[in-house]
Parts: sequence; C-alpha cells; structure tokens
Amino acid sequence: MNWFKRVAQNILTRSKKEIPEGLWNKCPSCNEIIPVKEIEENKYVCPRDGYHFRIGADQYFKLLFDGKHEFLFEEIQPVDVLGFKDKKPYRRRLEEARQKSKASEAVVIARGRIDRIPVVIGCMDFSFIGGSMGTVVGERLKRAMLLCAEEKIPLVVVTKSGGARMQESAFSLMQMAKTAAALSELRKAGVPYIVVLTDPTTGGVTASYAMLGDVHVAEPGALIGFAGPRVIKEAIGKDLPEGFQRSEFLLEHGFVDVIVDRRQLKETLSRLIRILTHKVKKANGNGKETLKAS
Ligand SMILES: [Zn+2]
Repeated sequence: MNWFKRVAQNILTRSKKEIPEGLWNKCPSCNEIIPVKEIEENKYVCPRDGYHFRIGADQYFKLLFDGKHEFLFEEIQPVDVLGFKDKKPYRRRLEEARQKSKASEAVVIARGRIDRIPVVIGCMDFSFIGGSMGTVVGERLKRAMLLCAEEKIPLVVVTKSGGARMQESAFSLMQMAKTAAALSELRKAGVPYIVVLTDPTTGGVTASYAMLGDVHVAEPGALIGFAGPRVIKEAIGKDLPEGFQRSEFLLEHGFVDVIVDRRQLKETLSRLIRILTHKVKKANGNGKETLKAS
C-alpha cells in the first residue's frame, strides 16, 4: 500500500511556463479560463483583468520589432567552468534549459527596428534557469552595450531575473561590475539606454544594469526588488507596506519613471527613443511630446 508515496520529484510551478501549449489557459490573477489564442492576440495580457502573463524573449521580440530581427552574440555559449557539483550537473541543467526555453541563454540579444528606428534589444528569459545572471548574460549584454556605443544605436533591455546564477558563483557576481562599466561607455557616447522591468526583476540584475537606465519603464504589477519580502521583513523586524516591491509602489517612490501596459509598450518605446535621440518630428497640441502612462 503506497497510496501516499510521493512518486514525482519534479514540482511544476506556474512561473516556469505560464502559457502552456493547448487551447485554453487559466489566468492566475482572475482564475478565468481563456482561449490561448485570445491571450496571444491581446499581447499576452489577460483580456478580463489586464494581468500580464510572463513571456519569453521570443515573444517580446515579436511584440516590439517591426517584423524581422537579427540575433547577436549567439556564439557566446555557457560552459561549466567550476565543475559545479549538484544533484543535477550544471551541464545537464543548461541542456534542459535550452530545450525548455528555446532560448540559448537567460538573455538573448537582437537588432532590428522599432517604428523604423534601428535598436538593439536584450531580452531576458525567465524559463532559462530563472533568468539568472551567468557569465554569458553579462558578456552578451556588455558586448551589446559596446556595440551600441560604437554605432550609436539605442539599447533597450527587458529584465526578468531571479538574480545571480549560483552554479557560476563569484563569476556571476562579477557581471554586475562588468555591465555597469560597459554602461558608462554607452553614457559617454550619449546613446539612450532604456530598461523595461518585467515580473520578476530581482537580485543582482536589479543591483546592476536594471537600475542604471536613462528611463525605467515597468510593466504593471511586476515584482521588482533586490532581496525577497520575507528576508527584508525578518531583517527589519517590521511588517511591510501593502504592494511593497510592485511596479506601482516603485513608481510612487521614484524608482520607476513610467508604468506601461504591454499593449502600449512598443508605441511608448518608440516615442521615448525619438525624444532621447531628438528625432521627434511632430509635436502634439501643446507643442510638447508627452508620455502617456497606463
Ligand atoms: Zn485575468
């Protein structure tokens, strides 16, 4: 009699794959069962309550670029430099992540156009080992930053990360300094750098390139922070305010410049880039180009 024996060892969490393959999907916010097609057509936003589903790099590229795009720095691939010992070898974990996420690392870089303006977008993918910041993530982003500085192309980075990649230990942490240094080159070149903070952006990513943008755009309801709420609560010995570490809370406290619904993200980025590169052609009624927040 082993009725209660636990057979499956793998516990599935909704964050890993929020849009399963199939015809219907349940919104984790309003619990409505919605046709997958309807969610896709609504740019992966729940048509009932506006919940933003977690999506991968591939979907963001389709939403933001004018059609075609070219991948960059795909030749930089992760290796297990430390020979990390774990229940599951790091090498195998990487292989599984590649298959599951269909991404080559937790950040994918591509160049293309947004409303005809050439841009480079670096997009993180949470389904690749929790969007963790390994050496390749830092290196690809650094190269993207230097390329943008040299060719004077605006850079957009969509962040989504659980933080450092423990299998790469201190090498993972070094990516914070590396990306921050490369960003100063971008600044010197006077090239705009826009960060799109999505759910969740935490840990070392928040502590480096996610918070160094010229403009910080956030998707509604995204969890953005360094340490988790439970850790902070224990450290300060106090209850945390409502909505703590969500986009709306951060906007109120000055960490975020604007909250933008994903359905208006492309339009907003296009307008921001035109303002920052002085390419605003037509001003609206009051003579000023304005940003409309959702
Ligand atoms: Zn919903």
